[in-house]
Amino acid sequence: MLKKDKTPPKVYISVDMEGITDVINWGETEEKGHDYRRYRESMTLEANAAVEGALEAGAKIVVVRDAHGNANNLIPEKLHEAALLIRGWSGGPLMMMEGLDESFDAAVFIGYHAKAGSRDAVLHHTMTGRLTELILNDQAVPELGLNAAIAGNYGVPVVFVSGDRALIDQAKELLGQREYVIVKEGIGTAARNIHPHLSQRFIEEGVKKAVRQRDRFEPFILRPPYTIQLRFIAERDAQKAALIPGSKRTDNLTVKFSSADFMDMLKFFYLAIH
Ligand SMILES: [Zn+2]
Repeated sequence: MLKKDKTPPKVYISVDMEGITDVINWGETEEKGHDYRRYRESMTLEANAAVEGALEAGAKIVVVRDAHGNANNLIPEKLHEAALLIRGWSGGPLMMMEGLDESFDAAVFIGYHAKAGSRDAVLHHTMTGRLTELILNDQAVPELGLNAAIAGNYGVPVVFVSGDRALIDQAKELLGQREYVIVKEGIGTAARNIHPHLSQRFIEEGVKKAVRQRDRFEPFILRPPYTIQLRFIAERDAQKAALIPGSKRTDNLTVKFSSADFMDMLKFFYLAIH
């Protein structure tokens, strides 16, 4: 389902923090952490670069979703004036994709990170520190996979992704050809970073190209039945998730849920990790 209309594109930008240039420690991503103020500014600047790119590609409406931690990281007065900012968690299942619907033409992921357990990956995890694996229709995915599927469920293609090299490798395997920018490369738990000004420039150029050429990219659409398997670190979390009607505990730490309804699968996931 490709959208070929020529009206100005409406662009949705989901911004995480672990994949922002130079971010390397958890403390840099946490409200009370060392250097958090500095890196929430970096996050805002990379979001702005994406907004700028979308505007250059003709977008008239750009929505930025703060998708990290308490979802109150982006600095409102430093965010590009053209963007609408979604802050906070709604209590609903869209989470990092809150506010997205079928009226959007393209989705952009900024500052994303690799799935839990990845090698040479900066601050890798999957949605929460409590999961070791998220499997969607038999494929282990990073949280990017779930978010791309949410976008796909609304017919919206992911056109651009930025983050560390491990994340981009996983995104390419899942989504194939899109516009990608690697801002850093993990060396164990360290990272080699490009200069933040270069990251911003590459993101702006990449998003501009991706949004202009959005018709090249297919939405990432899962086929029903929608099956999700979650592998937890703690038995207690598996036990709790298995209380959700329709779910099935397949081993000590793994819970499976399957539905013909995408949103039911997403609601299960939301309840299971909260
Ligand atoms: Zn995050």
